[in-house]
Amino acid sequence: MKYAKKIHELVGNTPLLEITSYPLPTGVRLFAKLEYFNPGGSVKDRLGKFLLQQALKDGRLQRGGTIIEPTAGNTGIGLALAAIEYDIKAIFITPKKFSHEKQTLMRALGAEVINTPTELGMEGAIQKAKELLSEHPDAFYPGQFQNPDNPDTYYESMGPELYAGLDGNIDIFVAGAGSGGTFMGTSRYLKEHIPGVKCVIVEPEGSILNGGKAGSHRTEGIGMEFLPPFMDREFFDEIYTISDEEAFAHLQEIAKLEGLLVGSSSGAALAASLREAEKAKPGTNIVTIFPDSSERYISNHIYDEVN
Ligand code: PMP
Repeated sequence: MKYAKKIHELVGNTPLLEITSYPLPTGVRLFAKLEYFNPGGSVKDRLGKFLLQQALKDGRLQRGGTIIEPTAGNTGIGLALAAIEYDIKAIFITPKKFSHEKQTLMRALGAEVINTPTELGMEGAIQKAKELLSEHPDAFYPGQFQNPDNPDTYYESMGPELYAGLDGNIDIFVAGAGSGGTFMGTSRYLKEHIPGVKCVIVEPEGSILNGGKAGSHRTEGIGMEFLPPFMDREFFDEIYTISDEEAFAHLQEIAKLEGLLVGSSSGAALAASLREAEKAKPGTNIVTIFPDSSERYISNHIYDEVN
C-alpha cells in the first residue's frame, strides 16, 4: 500500500517538468521543479518541516512550544503546517503588502499573523519579531534570514532531488533568492556533485545583489534588502536582475503555453532561464525552480494585464 499517514510526509519529492513550448536553441533543454505541488503550496514547506525538526532534535524547541517568525507568507505557511505536526503555536510578523491569500492561509492553519507597515519592509517585520521575542523569552525564533538550517534544508532535499531527477546531467541551475536558502543550499549540493555546474541567482529590480538599491517591486517572494550571513558570493556564477514587467509577462505566457499556474518569482526564474538558454551550447541542460502557484496572488491582480 502506498499512502501517507500525515500531510507532513508529502512535503518534497515534487514533479520535475521539461518546459517544451519555448523555441530554445537546438540541443538546449530546460526543466522546472514544480514546488506548488507541496502540501502548503510552496518551496517553503521544505523549510518549515526541516527547521522545526532540527530545533526539536537539539532542544532549541519543545513540543507544545511557541515560534515567532517574520515572514512574507510562504515560510509562514510551511512553518504553520509543520507546527500542527508538533503541537506548536506559531506567531508570524508579515508586512501588510504581502498577499491576502497567503496571510489567510497562515491563519487557516492556526497561526497568529501580526502585520507591520509596508513602508518598513522585511526589516520592519524582523524588528517587530525581536520586540515580541523579548516579551516571550521561551519562544523559538526559526530565523530564516540567519539560521544555517535554512540553506541546509535545500542541501538535504532539493539538491539531491534535482540531481536524481536528471541523473546528474545539470549544466546550469537557476533560482531566485528571497532569504537565499533555496539558492545557497541547492547550489552547494550541486557544486559538490557536478564539477563545472553554473549557478545563476535571480533577483527583481529593487534588490541589492547586483549593486542596486533596495526598493519596492511587485515580484513577490524574491529580492534582498541585505545579504544573510549564509550567502556566499562565490556561489553566484551569474546574477540576473529581472524587472516586474518581464516576470509578469513570463508567468502570464507560461500559463497559456504550458498550463502552468505559477507566481511571479517563477516568472522571474523562467525569464532568467530563457536568457541562459539563448547563450547555451547544444547539449546544455538547465534546471530551475518554480517556487509557488499564481492562485495565491489572484487578489494582487496577477493575471490582469493578460490580453
Ligand atoms: N519564491 C517565493 C514565492 C517565495 O515565497 C520564496 C521565499 N521567500 C522564494 C521564491 C525564495 O526562496 P528563498 O527564501 O529560499 O530564497
